[in-house]
Amino acid sequence: MKAARVHEPGKIVIEDVPVPELGDKDILIAVHRAGICGTDAGVVDGHVSAAYPVTLGHEFSGAIAELGNPSLTDFKVGDPVISGGGWGCGECERCQRGLGLYCKSRFSLGRNVDGCMAEYVKVDCRVVQKVPGNVSLDEAQNAVNIACSVRAVRKVDLRKVKTAVVFGPGNAGLIMLQLLKLGGVGRVMMAGTRDFRLEMAQRFGCDAVVNVKKEDPVKAILRQFPDGADAVFESSGRADALESAFSVVASNGAIVVFGIISEKIREFDPSVFYYKEPIVYGSKGASGAYGETIALLEQKKLQILPMITHRFSLDDAAKAFKVFEDKVSDALRIVIDVRP
Ligand SMILES: [Zn+2]
Ligand SMILES: [Zn+2]
Repeated sequence: MKAARVHEPGKIVIEDVPVPELGDKDILIAVHRAGICGTDAGVVDGHVSAAYPVTLGHEFSGAIAELGNPSLTDFKVGDPVISGGGWGCGECERCQRGLGLYCKSRFSLGRNVDGCMAEYVKVDCRVVQKVPGNVSLDEAQNAVNIACSVRAVRKVDLRKVKTAVVFGPGNAGLIMLQLLKLGGVGRVMMAGTRDFRLEMAQRFGCDAVVNVKKEDPVKAILRQFPDGADAVFESSGRADALESAFSVVASNGAIVVFGIISEKIREFDPSVFYYKEPIVYGSKGASGAYGETIALLEQKKLQILPMITHRFSLDDAAKAFKVFEDKVSDALRIVIDVRP
């Protein structure tokens, strides 16, 4: 089968590899749609750790091609499905306590096990979810990012949040915006670098935006929210955005750090922890959020399709990543159509 793989950072190759062999608990999925995420780009450029050579990708939708064991009766061949981006070993002390997210032997698609930018992907049956009949595979390809965003937004009690800021109007940031509005947050502001994305944020109900390339985000946000924002979500992956988050969070407000910030913070004044008592959460992955994700998709609560701006064939995976990495001005969700 064909697969988009990385042998060493910096280069994607399309090559022919064997279809994965299944163990008893495995499910083979025929991949239809695979989305590019910042983590995948990190595997390509080397700033996210990975066991090379590896097949890229962890966000996808597809259909079941084969079950590792007939006893997996929750599923049948042909079912449209999505899967989580990784799974714990299931046996260690952390996994036994339900903390598979922190399992030291965790399997992560597209990082230490072969991912979904291939004709087929093998996943553990514990992370496979059926896609409801009224949800297209174009919508379902975004399930991992939706679930990660649901988990991030759940960190805070939205009943107490009247104002919120999201740094980074990428795919996840725009989903968080939608979740915040669905959760009843009165005013949400977004900060980003690309007008195209900020305009989409406004179409999705964002109350105010600031382009950080044109204006100081701290000043612009405090003009909207003079007492600061009750909750601040950092999903841009930029260290300067995290610094700004501490400047714009309200006293005793919450900061949720989403995704991987790969830069270092040069200067940080920790006295903010005394003066403002901010509550800071990390947020990693999507554990426990898939049920709500499937329900949101089934109830058509989220706008997913307008975010798909580019489509490529599997053969053109390298071109797809180039559009992502070049930060092309009108690019948002880039999807690889593995099957028609
Ligand atoms: Zn991802
Ligand atoms: Zn484990």
